[in-house]
Amino acid sequence: MRVNIDDYRGVWVYIEQKKGQLLDVGLELLAAGRDLADKLEVDLCGVLLGEEVKSLTKDVFEAGADKVYLIDDPVLHYYRTETYMTAVGDLVRKYKPEIFLYGATSNGKDLASAVATDVLCGLTADTTLMDVDVEKRLFEASRPAFGGNIMATILCKKHRPQMATVRPKVIKRLPLQAGRTGEVIEETINVKEEDLQTKVLKIVKDAKKAVNLEEASVIVAAGKGIKDEKGFAMVRELAETLNASLGASRDVVEAGICGHDHQVGQTGVTVTPKVYIAIGISGAIQHLVGMQNSELIIAINNDREAPIFQAAHYGIVADAFTVVPMLTTAFKEALS
Ligand code: FAD
Repeated sequence: MRVNIDDYRGVWVYIEQKKGQLLDVGLELLAAGRDLADKLEVDLCGVLLGEEVKSLTKDVFEAGADKVYLIDDPVLHYYRTETYMTAVGDLVRKYKPEIFLYGATSNGKDLASAVATDVLCGLTADTTLMDVDVEKRLFEASRPAFGGNIMATILCKKHRPQMATVRPKVIKRLPLQAGRTGEVIEETINVKEEDLQTKVLKIVKDAKKAVNLEEASVIVAAGKGIKDEKGFAMVRELAETLNASLGASRDVVEAGICGHDHQVGQTGVTVTPKVYIAIGISGAIQHLVGMQNSELIIAINNDREAPIFQAAHYGIVADAFTVVPMLTTAFKEALS
């Protein structure tokens, strides 16, 4: 069904919360949304759903939103596709935003795709760059395509809203503006608990998922150059010495040397630590997109032509099996 696209105005950001705590990604997206809204001369709006979450609107305004659409209802206590999709879909139908951004978290991706099928609009996944053609009011969502060999800019010309998911840590948050406020628009959800097909009985934490690369300030990452489990153990020892998290390229994960939780890159996690040490990683584009915004990148590789050196601030052209144990010993001494 075609919509009248001229009826749609405003930039929206889905503000995800978990147990009453805002996820950083929503606040990061407000920075991108602010830029788009200013160019289009429209309001930047947050969409906040949950139970007893009204107090969170303060942070959303301080992070740059002009308005917050709020639905506060016990039925929204847990994320469930049916309730959240209905709530957001109804808001979209009523208020008609032209652009709508979501964090590419598990729930954000689920919600965005459900809303896209509900309101019948397009959705660009894992967007890394955003801009807008102001004259045509067209959102330009760019992302790596064809194995990362090209950047594709995706347009949604005939439907609204123009939606995208963006991974956590891709956008830098704006500094909070203390005391900044805005308008809260409270809405209700027309769904009752007894009408729902799903009930959340218990949340069970995945005991295996102990790796939290996204939050790490130092990451030591292993590539195929470390060869096998023995080489990985050598890298792990350096990571432990530095109290760092352990990352890996996809080739190391696919070789079964470590779990997917460790994978950095296009099909792994995006990280922005203070220090990223890449050991035996060539620097394929699919790896670089996941770590190139790290504050300091140090690469160790025995091939001086390896592309990782283009992204690195410091490079060590050497055999990892010689230099990594030397670094571990030196750091152990320095830190003891
Ligand atoms: P290689 O490219 O084989 O590099 C090994 C490096 O080790 C070389 O540069 C070599 O010079 C160096 N080396 C060898 N021996 C030594 C030594 N003794 N000392 C020091 N250095 C040494 N990759 C990811 O990492 N993350 C992703 O999320 C990801 N997603 C992908 C998604 C798609 C759709 C596709 C098509 C690919 C994806 N890839 C991803 C794979 C990616 O293209 C590369 O194949 C991968 O990153 C290469 O891993 P690597 O650098 O460990 O191995």
